Amino acid sequence: MSLADHLAARIQADGPMSVAAYMGECLLHPQYGYYTTRDPLGAKGDFTTAPEISQMYGELIGLALAQCWLDQGAPAPFTLAELGPGRGTLMADLLRATRGVPGFHAAMQIKLIEASPKLRSTQARTLEAYAPEWLNSADALPDQPLLLVANEFFDALPIRQFIRSGGSWSERRIGLTDGRLAFGLSPAAPQPALDHRLQDTQEGDLVEICDAAAPVTQAIASRIAAHGGAALIVDYGDWRALGDTLQALRAHKPADPLLAPGEADLTAHVDFEALAIAAKTAGCAYTRLTPQGVFLERLGITDRARALAAPLQGEPLDSLIAAHRRLTHPDEMGNLFKVLGLYPSTAAPLPGLNP
Ligand code: SAH
Repeated sequence: MSLADHLAARIQADGPMSVAAYMGECLLHPQYGYYTTRDPLGAKGDFTTAPEISQMYGELIGLALAQCWLDQGAPAPFTLAELGPGRGTLMADLLRATRGVPGFHAAMQIKLIEASPKLRSTQARTLEAYAPEWLNSADALPDQPLLLVANEFFDALPIRQFIRSGGSWSERRIGLTDGRLAFGLSPAAPQPALDHRLQDTQEGDLVEICDAAAPVTQAIASRIAAHGGAALIVDYGDWRALGDTLQALRAHKPADPLLAPGEADLTAHVDFEALAIAAKTAGCAYTRLTPQGVFLERLGITDRARALAAPLQGEPLDSLIAAHRRLTHPDEMGNLFKVLGLYPSTAAPLPGLNP
């Protein structure tokens, strides 16, 4: 049995499924899920991410969070958390870079929120020296100051897709046509959660909502509002999403999202406005959405690259220059990826970000 067979049986029994149900099964089915069964990152995997491109990324994020901690009076103890830590690379670079911040390591309690048993064991190896604890959900974070990072986490949360039809919406569903997975539409119905999108959309437009994003954001934001701390959320997406952004990647190439379920990474662009609204509802302030390239330049990535480049020549130097470009240049990740900061309304915003 494959995931495709399992999905076909489920559709035959229960009828067509939402895009969210499909994404959830493809990514995290306990037996066949994409993240459950493999480490998808790196050159041999399906995609790569900023922390895997260069150590500079995790280092700068670590120093930005440590600066927030110092600005807020160095509270102890505090939670240092990551959502979807992948191979643990960002956390390892962050921890190395903050070793010299007096009291930071002594006060931190590391919590990793990770659904994949496979990636949990990779993280355990990478972070062995630091004794992290794994949590199943952001709801389980302790009630104390929280510094948190989420890099390419929210794009993996399942989205639903709706197509506007008058003042109502038809939900895009996945059913079977001649025994193969195919997109279809549910009958149009009002969707109160999309009332605010009646102003900026037209007949036939597609909009996406991510039901899982707001509860996670609220769990984080309520702790930051009550106890202090900050969160850095980095992902591709925009303030308000319009159009179909469901994307499958396999071996670094775009793929058909309905072909080979469980074998390709599935993501959707993040609607940062929805995260900001959830944070505000929980009493937290948020920064202006800032392109990754601008954020990293403000944190001093070019100085860091120069320092790392000093002893290098030949291929290692070329790959360092390429990594710097990849992370910051507007034609590469610099513009596509955006950064949103969450912070207590009584504190200064995060380094590199404006209120
Ligand atoms: N942050 C890492 C990995 C990004 S891939 C990096 O930038 O390299 C997405 C990560 O989120 C993986 O670790 C995946 O297993 C995890 N993940 C996806 N959905 C999740 C969920 N619902 N709950 C917890 N972790 C999840």
